[in-house]
Amino acid sequence: MNYDRILIRYGEISTKGRNRNKFIDKLRKSVRIALTTFPSVKIEASRDRMYVLLNGENAKDIIEKLKHVFGIQSFSPAIKVEKELETLKKMALHLVQSQYNEGQTFKVTAKRSDKTFELNTDEINHTLGGYLLQNIAGIKVDVKNPDINVRVEVRKEAIYLSCETIPGAGGLPMGSSGKAMLMLSGGIDSPVAGYLSMKRGLELEAVHFFSPPFTSERAKEKVVDLSKKLAEIGGGSITLHIVPFTEVQQAIREQVPENYTMTSTRRMMLRIADEIRKNREGLAIITGESLGQVASQTLESMYAINEVTNTPILRPLISMDKNDIIKIAEEIDTLTISNRPFEDCCTIFVPSSPKTKPKREKVNQYESYFDFEPLIQEAVQKVETITIKPGREHSQEFKELF
Ligand code: ATP
Ligand code: MG
Repeated sequence: MNYDRILIRYGEISTKGRNRNKFIDKLRKSVRIALTTFPSVKIEASRDRMYVLLNGENAKDIIEKLKHVFGIQSFSPAIKVEKELETLKKMALHLVQSQYNEGQTFKVTAKRSDKTFELNTDEINHTLGGYLLQNIAGIKVDVKNPDINVRVEVRKEAIYLSCETIPGAGGLPMGSSGKAMLMLSGGIDSPVAGYLSMKRGLELEAVHFFSPPFTSERAKEKVVDLSKKLAEIGGGSITLHIVPFTEVQQAIREQVPENYTMTSTRRMMLRIADEIRKNREGLAIITGESLGQVASQTLESMYAINEVTNTPILRPLISMDKNDIIKIAEEIDTLTISNRPFEDCCTIFVPSSPKTKPKREKVNQYESYFDFEPLIQEAVQKVETITIKPGREHSQEFKELF
């Protein structure tokens, strides 16, 4: 079938009232980026839908790309037909024949925003339905659960015909919810947390804590590769901030009793991530924490760690089981990267028995004997910032950020 366009339904964004134009604009940009390799396509957006005009480009390839764009509820390859009954019948027949398999059922669903058209919706349903029954051997009507739903939309300028509805990725368009900093380790969880956040329209910048020489260049490479995957999923570049964390970690080891080093490490990470967030004008911090998964993720730990900031901490995985997280990691293709065996800065100084129920008062007391602030500021000063582009080699700018 020679489709000439793809009709995109917005879903959730159409409920967003006054923000609608912004949402549509962001979605249009995402679609444009997803289809950069198809230079002839044209995008037409209106309040309630968007059309990708194919202009001779391959519908199948474009459909594959659109499946991954956040903010699309569903979409349908469609044909524009002139408003003339005989033409409409012929095109509908052609369309259904291209989809039909022996013994399948169908129905016609007409919608009419142009009331001047010669037939009303019931008449369109009956006329087209009868014509298809006559001309396709073995086809039957099923109005409740048809295999093929022939959608006919009579609009002012033309009639649009489609009979396939493909589910979109859902969520909200990239960047429509603002910017947040993703604390990205080399593990399984944080890339999944990043993916789920992007799906809700967040633009991400990643922050990774790196402790040379205790963590190797290969560990850094892993995080670069994970960021690259996230950039591919989001369809835009991702900024990755690599924080030199060795000195802070060593100070913690010298100043804080062993069973509280993990709590203190997390607090320092959060303080640094929050400084970077401020400089980059983000509004939240995202982590891959899941309740009760490890000692640092008990409610008591979160209570002790979270004290250092009142910035919203988003934890998209908080209620998820590890198996479900792994499933998503497989789907988004980050699992094999996360499983590469390189040390993370949090695993090198792991205490033999970290406190699972640390106390705020205690950690505050231990940290009060030493001024961590200069070390934190120094780490922020020495951040290395890399822009990671999807599908291309990342441009490493070994430059100081601030
Ligand atoms: P992950 O699989 O994401 O590493 P995890 O189950 O191993 O998570 P932790 O190591 O306790 O759990 O880390 C909890 C969260 O803290 C991570 O999901 C991540 O958001 C953040 N985090 C941990 N280590 C780092 C790091 N080196 N750099 C940046 N963020 C980190
Ligand atoms: Mg980890």
